[in-house]
Amino acid sequence: MVDTPTLLVMKFGGTNMQGAAAIRHSASLVARSLNAEVRVVVVVSAMSGVTNLLLGVAEAGEKGDIAGANDMIAALRTRHFTAAQELGAAPDSATVRELRELLETLRQAVYGVYLLRELTARSRDLIVAFGERLSAPLMSLALEASGHRPHHLTGGQAGIVTDAHFGSARPLSSTAGRIRDRLGGLLDAGLTPVIAGFMGETEKGATTTLGRGGTDYSATIVGAALHASEVWAWKDVDGVMSADPRAVQGAQNIAQLSYGEVMELAYFGAKVLHPLAVTPLQDAGIPLRVKSAADPDFPGTLVTASPDTDSAHPVKAVTAIRGVSIINVSGAGFLGVPDVVADLFAALARENITLLMVSQSSSMSNVSLAILSSDEERTLEALGRPMGGRPMQLDVQREVAVLAIVGAGMRGTKGVSAKLFGALAGDDINILMISQGSSELNISVAIEGRDVDGATRTVHTAFGLDAAVVAS
Ligand code: ADP
Ligand code: ASP
Ligand code: MG
Repeated sequence: MVDTPTLLVMKFGGTNMQGAAAIRHSASLVARSLNAEVRVVVVVSAMSGVTNLLLGVAEAGEKGDIAGANDMIAALRTRHFTAAQELGAAPDSATVRELRELLETLRQAVYGVYLLRELTARSRDLIVAFGERLSAPLMSLALEASGHRPHHLTGGQAGIVTDAHFGSARPLSSTAGRIRDRLGGLLDAGLTPVIAGFMGETEKGATTTLGRGGTDYSATIVGAALHASEVWAWKDVDGVMSADPRAVQGAQNIAQLSYGEVMELAYFGAKVLHPLAVTPLQDAGIPLRVKSAADPDFPGTLVTASPDTDSAHPVKAVTAIRGVSIINVSGAGFLGVPDVVADLFAALARENITLLMVSQSSSMSNVSLAILSSDEERTLEALGRPMGGRPMQLDVQREVAVLAIVGAGMRGTKGVSAKLFGALAGDDINILMISQGSSELNISVAIEGRDVDGATRTVHTAFGLDAAVVAS
């Protein structure tokens, strides 16, 4: 067991791992904290762009384009070997041998997909997790170069055992004990574990992934298991911001958020954290800090249980999900038949379809569902059968976006929705659906996809979130 007074889990994202210089800098951020009293467990993402490239490799294999797949693997080889060399690895070093072996195993896995012309969720996970497996040894090199004693492991080796929902696997309850067993000894021996994020493995040893952006989640799973003092997610932004800084120039850092607020933000499209990332931390109340790698002294965002409401800013952030479709379900006799509604939700649950918004007309003659367009085909198939014994009519509206405002201070504050609708109306933006969560942590609206950027900026300004406004 870990008996150190302070244990930090530090997560580094793709940008923080994008090449030798970034990795060296990330290692220096670990080194700043690491000393006799503070132990650090490091969790790393793949180098930026690598996960998408691996998805491309897997698809090329499935399509029969083995030459294309091998070219992409060659590009991966060059990128990782170059970084290893720049981090001081000799051509015959153990790290270079390890990278070579990993790339060879990847090549074999892709060749299997090519021979079968079949890419299952299971094989896709195996292939896509190579990004993190390849970047962990690079972080080890950088930590070694700064005089530390790292030891890198895959997510599975670190003890993350999951269900078999490939592509969106969830940790099993045995994970926490296993992580303590696997990492406790390393920490007691004075080693710094470096874990390949994003991935775990099933009881039978098949590689799984936790969903896109899953390294945040790996870090919090490990942090909770080890009863860490804090989990720090180092990012290429100042922290969690009042809007995606790529969409809204005036977006500003949010100093404090509650676990619930972060979950709402991530669920409604803020890519900064995996939607489930805070869940492992909630019970133990372990704080999560989101910090800027470029400005390590800046406090960033502190995420804890207490919501810290600021009455001047009941809304803390605006976020949006693009690529949404609305399915309008109607049918003769829908009216007041509970079986219809029960069948409908059961069909969606069976298909594991994420419902972004639901609204039912008060006459109960139709139900509108906002879903990700990528789930549209499966949704139409799931709802294509009679519901409660009655045939349903399905109409689809595409190119929709869901915009959400988030903040615990909205609870009990009057006039928030009026301000939202007023701001959107002022910009002549048509609202297609409305929903307010009963938690009152968010209000979300579905709008035309083409309006989303402008609407986000307008709403951000309307709630006084632009940096200049808040600073004044
Ligand atoms: P990492 O690899 O470190 O996890 P990501 O690219 O997954 O980094 O997440 C960081 C990115 O999330 C930022 O570059 C930013 O564009 C985007 N983002 C979207 N919404 C927000 C928000 N509200 N606050 C901060 N970043 C956001
Ligand atoms: N590399 C994975 C992704 O791009 C996991 C992560 O970065 O968190 O989704
Ligand atoms: Mg991420």
